[in-house]
Amino acid sequence: MPYVLHCECGWEKEYRNPVAAKFGGEAHIPHCPFYRKAKEMIDTMSMKRFEGKTEDAGGAILSAAFWKQDTVVRGTIVREFDTENGKCYVLDIPGGLTVDGSALSPKQEGSITGTRFSLGGLKGFQMAVDASGAGRLLVGDVLTIKATGLTDTGKGSPQVNFRVRIERGDDKQQDVPF
Ligand SMILES: [Zn+2]
Repeated sequence: MPYVLHCECGWEKEYRNPVAAKFGGEAHIPHCPFYRKAKEMIDTMSMKRFEGKTEDAGGAILSAAFWKQDTVVRGTIVREFDTENGKCYVLDIPGGLTVDGSALSPKQEGSITGTRFSLGGLKGFQMAVDASGAGRLLVGDVLTIKATGLTDTGKGSPQVNFRVRIERGDDKQQDVPF
């Protein structure tokens, strides 16, 4: 009784025994257009997963929902990256921070504890940085950020307002109340 292999791509071959069929099938795979297309899709998917991991390394972005009035975060900028909403900054937060997952993303459950979170893409934050006179934020800057309240923008979600202190270079003061 012959062993016939059928492939999704239309390839079909008859073998005399299962061992020959196994080798024949394996030999077909690299040439199979169906398999190659599937592999390409998987590679693309795992690339996306890899990008996601890169973002994880920068920590989750502290979105507007996180910044309840009087929330204070202090950390050192370790990296910056661009998003479609503007520049974001990765903060290294000594002592860490525990954040309610739902304030980061609707899909995120439970809470997240870590020492790296990202910040940015918020208009109120950028306005506070501009008002500080420090110019562009730099890697190594120590930021203390406090959410001071909300402004109704009349369109969609309200804008979170911030007070920002930027310590740079030798002026860094580690334990000053804000
Ligand atoms: Zn095939």
